[in-house]
Amino acid sequence: MRLFDTAYLKLTAWYVAIIMIISLLFSTWVYNQTREELQFGLNRAAQLGPFFDPGGGAWRSVVDDRLEDSRHRLLIRLVGFNAVVLAVGAAGSYWLARRTMQPIADALDAQRRFTADASHELRTPLAAMKTEIEVGLRDKKLSKDEAMALLHSNLEEVDRLGGLAESLLALTRVDVAIELTPVVLAEVTDAVVKRLRPLAEAKRIAVKTHLEPATVQGDAVALDKIIGILLDNAIKYSPQATKIVLRTYEKDGHGYVEVQDHGIGIAADGLPRIFDRFYRADTSRSAGYVSGYGLGLSIAQTLAANLDGTITVDSALGEGSTFTLSLAAA
Ligand code: ADP
Repeated sequence: MRLFDTAYLKLTAWYVAIIMIISLLFSTWVYNQTREELQFGLNRAAQLGPFFDPGGGAWRSVVDDRLEDSRHRLLIRLVGFNAVVLAVGAAGSYWLARRTMQPIADALDAQRRFTADASHELRTPLAAMKTEIEVGLRDKKLSKDEAMALLHSNLEEVDRLGGLAESLLALTRVDVAIELTPVVLAEVTDAVVKRLRPLAEAKRIAVKTHLEPATVQGDAVALDKIIGILLDNAIKYSPQATKIVLRTYEKDGHGYVEVQDHGIGIAADGLPRIFDRFYRADTSRSAGYVSGYGLGLSIAQTLAANLDGTITVDSALGEGSTFTLSLAAA
């Protein structure tokens, strides 16, 4: 990525500049300090010189030579030291720059993938609508019934697009910090069940609840959304006339909400990916049940993470799934 290559180099240059300024200031200080010490030594020697060498200035010239030698050696060592600092500093700075920028590069990469997936999802219903409309327009003998069927089909696609837009909007809103307050899980769960019961009844699915007292650190609105997504999925992916059970309970300092269905279940190879954005397990089979975008669980998981909670899943293909939300007890 060119953008990041330039950024790595710029950041490295800044780090190296800071290191070199410190190193050069330090070297100058060492050089001046040592020179003063040597000067001091020389002055002492010059004072004592005539005592040992009453004959003349030979002593002084030896001391001067030694002093010049020492200064020269010191300068070479300091230059060497700074060269090593520059080399090691540049390598270290580049490594550090890469480490600093990596999370940003990863986030940008994820954003790019997300945009690509989202546009793909948007294009599919649009392409379907376009084809249907074009075929309808070309048909000179289009009857009123056929026109109505076309409009109905288009309306379905428009609904799909509306749902997708809503989910995408929800995804952008969930990444925010939430202030945690005590929430009674049984109350939120009960409200969600009441709201979604008509959906279950339409499929003659019995929704049972075992709500034991459990109060967690959370947020009522976010919890309502999470439990809503889990129950909605349980209804969507269950055949007619099955049973769904919701449980709330507290154990070892945690509060739990369990949503258990006896639906189609999820294959083992799909399980690790069901929380990924836009992932839909075995689309052909799922498609037989409902149309979705693979965004619900991703939203639920982000919301749960905002509440410092987790969602785990236990599922067997053809037998059913149990999703468990866990949060710190209040
Ligand atoms: P969507 O339901 O819109 O496809 P989700 O993110 O909610 O998106 O779910 C991702 C996938 O996980 C679904 O497509 C489905 O294949 C699978 N899944 C989720 N919940 C269940 C469930 N209760 N039973 C079986 N499969 C499920």
